[in-house]
Amino acid sequence: DMLLTPGAVRDAERWTAHNYHPLPVVISSAEGAWVTDVDGKRYLDCLAGYSALNFGHRHPKLIATAHEQLDRLTLTSRAFIHDQFADFCHELADLCGTELVLPMNTGAEAVETAIKVARKWGYQVKGVPAGQATIVVADGNFHGRTTTIISFSTDPDARNDFGPYTPGFRIVPYGDLTALAEAIDETTVAVLLEPIQGEQGVVVPPTGYLPGVRQLCTEQNVLFLADEIQSGLGRTGATFALDHEGVKPDMYLLGKALGGGIVPVSAVAADKSVLGVLRPGEHGSTFGGNPLACAVATEVVRLLATGDFQRRSAELGARLHTALGGLVGEGLVAVRGRGLWAGIDIDPSLMTGRQACERLAARGVLAKDTHGSTIRLAPPLVVEPEELDFAVEQLRAILS
Ligand code: PLP
Repeated sequence: DMLLTPGAVRDAERWTAHNYHPLPVVISSAEGAWVTDVDGKRYLDCLAGYSALNFGHRHPKLIATAHEQLDRLTLTSRAFIHDQFADFCHELADLCGTELVLPMNTGAEAVETAIKVARKWGYQVKGVPAGQATIVVADGNFHGRTTTIISFSTDPDARNDFGPYTPGFRIVPYGDLTALAEAIDETTVAVLLEPIQGEQGVVVPPTGYLPGVRQLCTEQNVLFLADEIQSGLGRTGATFALDHEGVKPDMYLLGKALGGGIVPVSAVAADKSVLGVLRPGEHGSTFGGNPLACAVATEVVRLLATGDFQRRSAELGARLHTALGGLVGEGLVAVRGRGLWAGIDIDPSLMTGRQACERLAARGVLAKDTHGSTIRLAPPLVVEPEELDFAVEQLRAILS
């Protein structure tokens, strides 16, 4: 049989910049936790669009909402108000327990918004001298790809040759409260952290760290900006990863799953005392908060408001982590994570993460390596228990 895949892989390489190194799988359709390639082969999706597909591919409610909205109104710009806008902001604010929401499109834009708001808050509310604001971030962070955001990355691939860099950031070791306390001074407007570092390999900080960050920020009059773009919206078995430690940040940064795997939707959520510093003309986005985005994202918020996905993620996550724990010493050297989110380190003497992902793909499981021999597993939260078992069985098979 003539396989369509090699030609499509070659064409993709031919016509785009090589800023990704995709697995040679050419997907043409998907439903729930499964995707199908151009040759008809099916794969269990254990990456879920870097957690943008928490509700699975083409969730029926989200697709129906998108279709309805496509037939009524898709774009107005924020120069006018549309009938989907207020409900989205209101319902997401309720989910976050905040007073306000500001919608954008991509995760990086939510991060940029948070940085701008925190700086403005620092000058106007905290009284930091003009141009002096500092923001403390963590070693190993991943917050996106803009020039400002990569300025405080510690990953040479993300950063090298993209300077000159934006000043105003201090980098401290992730999980180290003492180092964080030492980095904060009177110029500090914010601490920006991922509650769990996804791209770094699903790194969970020590228990007590996040409540400690909260306490430090409160004591020092510094905003705690929680980047829950990958960790939030059900992934860890709670609405937010911070919920596991009972912590409320001053601002949630959300994205990925907020768009239901259909449209790019991001947002920041915070109280008036913070987001209220923005005045007309000071920040914006042509597509941010557009009608299609708001309609889909409101339905996403309603799915989360039931708590069903969070519960599923917690229960199935326990099953996944128990099964993966059984492979430690059997080809895995470490397993980290929470809920339906796992970072696994493969014994580097066996194979690289890339090779592991290629072998998993051949067996019908899609995952993606992060660094070296680390793979991240993050299936859609609609995955069935037996499907998880299937994924772990394929992993066991390639390790033995
Ligand atoms: N923040 C975190 C924690 C992420 O994982 C990502 C994407 O991987 C981003 C921000 C950037 O999001 P986007 O790719 O939508 O700009």
